[in-house]
Amino acid sequence: MTLPITHTHTHTHTHDHSLILKSKPKEMDQKKEQKPHCLILPYPLQGHINPMIQFSKRLAHKGITITFAVPQGLLTSSTAVDDIAVVISDGYDSAAARAGASPQERLLSFKTAGTESTSRLIEKLREGGRAMDCVVCDAFVPWGLAVAKGKGLFGAAFFTQTSSVNVIYYNVFKGLLKVPVSEKEIVQLPGLPPLEVSDLPSFVVDSEKYPGVLELMAGQFEGVKDSDFVFVNSVYKLEEEANNWMKKSMSVKTIGPAIPSMYLDKRLQQDTNYGLSLFKPDDTCMKWLQQRSPKSVIYVSFGSMAKLDKHQMEELATALMLIDKHFLWVVRSSEVSKLPENFTDEASGKGLILSWCSQLEVLAHEAVGCFVTHCGWNSTLEALSLGVPMVGVPWWSDQATNAKFVMDVWKMGVRACPNEEGVVGHEELVSCVKHVMEGERAEEIRENAMKWKELAKGAIDEGGSSDRNIEEFISTLLGGQVS
Ligand code: UDP
Repeated sequence: MTLPITHTHTHTHTHDHSLILKSKPKEMDQKKEQKPHCLILPYPLQGHINPMIQFSKRLAHKGITITFAVPQGLLTSSTAVDDIAVVISDGYDSAAARAGASPQERLLSFKTAGTESTSRLIEKLREGGRAMDCVVCDAFVPWGLAVAKGKGLFGAAFFTQTSSVNVIYYNVFKGLLKVPVSEKEIVQLPGLPPLEVSDLPSFVVDSEKYPGVLELMAGQFEGVKDSDFVFVNSVYKLEEEANNWMKKSMSVKTIGPAIPSMYLDKRLQQDTNYGLSLFKPDDTCMKWLQQRSPKSVIYVSFGSMAKLDKHQMEELATALMLIDKHFLWVVRSSEVSKLPENFTDEASGKGLILSWCSQLEVLAHEAVGCFVTHCGWNSTLEALSLGVPMVGVPWWSDQATNAKFVMDVWKMGVRACPNEEGVVGHEELVSCVKHVMEGERAEEIRENAMKWKELAKGAIDEGGSSDRNIEEFISTLLGGQVS
């Protein structure tokens, strides 16, 4: 894997290591001293790292120096890493230590240890002649913005969820949407279509189930007051009304889709993958896909975190065997034991089960005709950007809201309905997949998918809405002032 930028390694002398990602467009060569330097601070999850790496590459391509920071303990021997930085500490500097801590413990410790190690890193780099201009923080780590502010640097909050989801959490943050929302309510929020309870992020509906998580979600806006810029990995036109409403309270700039350039505008010639994968992709599926006819394969994946019930896995397995189509199913190794006994053998010839794949490559393959997805925002945006119709089977977090948009706003797929036990049965799954792949509306769904694909590409291509927002950010950094 190669990033579309030149690499310069800078190892500091503490246990911090850093990597500076640079590019040198011709026009900047004469003005080296003016080249701004950004520290990028993602929350250490795959779905947060991916878009922030891509944003970094866009900035680097336009001449910004990037230092990309992740906690040391995140990277294990199975991490497929493309020279991306290991720079800070979340208090658990080995994978074993991290594994022993609960998500809540890690979150708290990341704030303390992260604040300290990030400050130290910024100082080290400054002493080494690489002073920082701006800290771009995942909105999940508002403390990073406080670090930026304390050091007199620009701070930017980066949201990895949609603007529509931001509207929901912002209303919770402001106390305008009372939680938990009752079962029968229809929620009407500015900039959004009417939402049923089942369309809302799970943490708003069932805030007790994951203590502290709703606070984290709504708390994303805490950092905004300390930030000079607010970025969202979305496309302006995809959620125009939500974007316009958010703009009344903060200067939101859409910069998406933050996915590798070679799947979109192709301006970053070597940018073919994200560059940091916490799971090892198994590329055997590409050969397998090669043998299938166009739009004939069902691709199934629930991202990096979802832990489906055993019963749900069985229903999926039954559905996939009933449908007269080939399927490619990503089942992470931690989930394999939930598959029906001998399923992998029974399915062979019809289906391929993998522990991880290069999802973008799969989605971009002409053999793929439908994506059965949990509707994590990255997966949704990837499918949208590649024009792949979806069947949404949301699991938690913002996924239900994304599924609602896929079905009712973007009309490029359907959402499968769970039964009273919360499980999506095999009959429902079969009917949804058939609806999307060969039903009466299949053609219309595919056409819509192609329309969004063009829109997504146009936004990030030269002069598009996201490209202009990135340019504007860079000119502000160069000018040293927030407009
Ligand atoms: N992904 C991948 N290979 C897989 C499954 C997922 O590369 O086999 C990537 C996918 O392309 C996406 C990310 O992992 O960029 C998952 O992010 P998402 O927001 O969809 O879901 P999360 O993992 O955060 O639930």
